[in-house]
Amino acid sequence: MRFEAFTGNHKVVDRLRQKLRENRFPHALIFAGLEGVGKHTLALMIAKALNCAVAGPADYCDDCSQCRKIDAGTHPDVLNVTVEEDATTIKIAQVRYVLSMLDLRPLEGKNKVFIFDPANLMNQESSNALLKGLEEPPENSFFILIAVNLHELLLTIRSRSQVYHFAPLLLDEIRAKGLDELVVRWSQGSIGRANSLDVQSIREQREAVLEFLEVAVHAKDETLRNVLNASADLSRTRQDFTGYLSVMTVLLGDILRIAEGAPDRIVNVDIRQRLEHTAASAPTDRWIRVSEFLRVMENGLKGNLNRQMMTDVMALVTAEISDDIPGKSR
Ligand SMILES: [Zn+2]
Repeated sequence: MRFEAFTGNHKVVDRLRQKLRENRFPHALIFAGLEGVGKHTLALMIAKALNCAVAGPADYCDDCSQCRKIDAGTHPDVLNVTVEEDATTIKIAQVRYVLSMLDLRPLEGKNKVFIFDPANLMNQESSNALLKGLEEPPENSFFILIAVNLHELLLTIRSRSQVYHFAPLLLDEIRAKGLDELVVRWSQGSIGRANSLDVQSIREQREAVLEFLEVAVHAKDETLRNVLNASADLSRTRQDFTGYLSVMTVLLGDILRIAEGAPDRIVNVDIRQRLEHTAASAPTDRWIRVSEFLRVMENGLKGNLNRQMMTDVMALVTAEISDDIPGKSR
């Protein structure tokens, strides 16, 4: 795939290519923005442009051995620094390895490119070690740090890097890929998300999550036990729990839009009546609280909290909501 084929964020692409063309490409970059908008893809494209044996300087051929190795992840000068399987953070040893490469010449290509993704999963120690590399990087070394939230990176790292913000894609840009309308609406501007979704799994996940919310909110007696059972069912399902949380975010977004009188802006237009029914079963400010809690949960999951524990806490909060409905007995 060439630069021209990159979807969305054209201003970012143009600015970066301009810098390549002028041979003043920044040695430390941060790509910040929503998951699945092409940050990593663009980082690899830049690595190719910096190393391609045929085209350049603001382009690449996508066919020479340099380009192919970068695509395959086997180029010795282009390193993808990420969290190893048994770990929760990028370890200082990984950063030290990168630093040890700085004084060496590129092994095969013209430039060394270090892609840290997700860069926000560096701990304090790793971040501080990386700072040394960012202070005076050699001419032929480039750092690209990728993060969803810029503010999760150390201020000192941010101040030594040029920041590029990636916007969510327009739904029309995703629609142009010829995807199902339900998938387009569910993508939330993330092409990565759109590509990983299919209509059937959206319907299944949506159904399970709605049932969970409805059971929790409508439980009359032994509320707690009911919602806990519901939560256990939820976390036993085969799909990734994080996926469920994002499904819940979308559904709660719709419920809130309905509750706030803006039903035209909902994602799930095909089940509007059902959502209206769900929305009406609890006061608006309580739905807002669930949404806020959901954000806490998502952050907790990033920190690897126990899934069952998180669902139980969620169930408790939801139960509290149903307790607020007038006329409800326990
Ligand atoms: Zn090439």
